[in-house]
Amino acid sequence: MTEPLPDPALVVLVGPSGSGKSTWAAERYRGAEIVSSDDLRGVVGSGRHDLAASVEAFELLERIVAGRVRRGLTTVVDTLGLDPVRRGQWVGLAREHGLPAVAVAFDVVPELTRRRNAGRDRPVPARVLAQQHKAFRDLDLSAEPWDRVVTVATGSAPEPRPTPAEPSQAKAGFDVVLQVSRFPWGEDPAGWLRDIALAADEVGFAGLALMDHLIQVPQVGTAWEPIPEPWVTLGMLAGLDTRLRLGTLVTPVTFRPPGITAKTVATLDVLSGGRAFVGVGAGWWEREHLAFGLPFPPRAERLDLLESGIETMRALWAAGTKGYDGERVSLPETTAYPRPVHDVQVVVGGGGERRTLRIAARLGDACNVASAVVAQKTEVLRRHCEEVGRDPAEVAVTVLDLPVVGRDRDDVWERVERLRGRTAASTYASRHHAGTPAQQRERYLALAEQGVSTVFVALPDLTGPDAVLEAGGLLP
Ligand code: GDP
Ligand code: MG
Repeated sequence: MTEPLPDPALVVLVGPSGSGKSTWAAERYRGAEIVSSDDLRGVVGSGRHDLAASVEAFELLERIVAGRVRRGLTTVVDTLGLDPVRRGQWVGLAREHGLPAVAVAFDVVPELTRRRNAGRDRPVPARVLAQQHKAFRDLDLSAEPWDRVVTVATGSAPEPRPTPAEPSQAKAGFDVVLQVSRFPWGEDPAGWLRDIALAADEVGFAGLALMDHLIQVPQVGTAWEPIPEPWVTLGMLAGLDTRLRLGTLVTPVTFRPPGITAKTVATLDVLSGGRAFVGVGAGWWEREHLAFGLPFPPRAERLDLLESGIETMRALWAAGTKGYDGERVSLPETTAYPRPVHDVQVVVGGGGERRTLRIAARLGDACNVASAVVAQKTEVLRRHCEEVGRDPAEVAVTVLDLPVVGRDRDDVWERVERLRGRTAASTYASRHHAGTPAQQRERYLALAEQGVSTVFVALPDLTGPDAVLEAGGLLP
């Protein structure tokens, strides 16, 4: 099997007794994902081989399969799979609920199943086994409406576990930055922050980004959780001995006059030895503005502020002290010391196609978009660049990703259950790309192939430095 199977999916196993179906399933799926007619015979009947319990076992099986598929949960149907009517119903069910339907055929020689059967405590009679093989030979899964049919051949070894991709596969300049958005720092805020940053540096994150919000946003936590002022916090982190790039994702232009942000960022750049970057956006959350006595003008005006704000910062960071007379901004002088010690990257947040990406094309070094729409936003950005006469290569594309990362399939699912709140598990899992570090890494390499330069990774269950060390496995 080359391509990984879709996940979530309805996976129907098809093959004679002893062809290795249950073994194959157990190696790949969580126990709760596998619905086995043998197991259910053992639940309603006297044991796995209590054929008298078959009718009820299958009634239960159909109910469980229907319940799981309706919830969008991966379901592996472990029966002989040789009944065409049942197969047709399962495909129909998957279709109805938008799950891919996969048939896995276990094509093994009769000699092998006979031998395996003979070794079992309750062997299937030879005549029955022969019938199963005949039924298996006679069926043509490719003529049925499966989204995918895969064949597991005789004695084939299980496919190798995904191996870490070679770093060389990543596009040059691709990096992963840890975004910290929750602060469960207990009694020692400074110590917690320091340990997070040291762990991020140790495992190889390229930088650390902080949200810039005045109240914790509902997408991340409750309003009474602490959320520190990011530039002060980054100033403290700049004093640690790390190579981390430091900045915000993203600073709303509505919070501080842009000249003050220019001063703040320049100072951070100087104190950190040229490691500062700044994310800027139009701001979106009215509540935090009102609570802190800040104006919250309409969106069009906020976008104007974004545009003039970047222009102001760039004017103040440029060499010299001459007056500045730009398209939207005029300053009588640009005396601003210290200057940044390197070209500070300005990341424009938001994928608004008409204005935000246009502002990024004119004035940004990067734009940050959602990972699901990279291709589309990159294309819009490219068109804006063309229209404003900017080389698209000068504007990087970055994404914010919020993955649920677990050691293995069981751990991944436990985390999804813990974090999902009232969101359906399948929805939460897909929105957060729930998976192992290796699966995240593959996704990031694919994003790099699409031209993404930086992935900002925010871990929904970042509790402390150990979580950062564990997540290190996702770095390409
Ligand atoms: P099922 O009846 O199709 O579910 O088959 P099982 O998964 O229960 O496998 C039947 C027997 O074959 C068990 O004793 C397994 O340990 C063994 N088996 C299954 N798959 C493999 C395999 O890939 N290689 C080897 N050597 N044994 C296997
Ligand atoms: Mg079995």
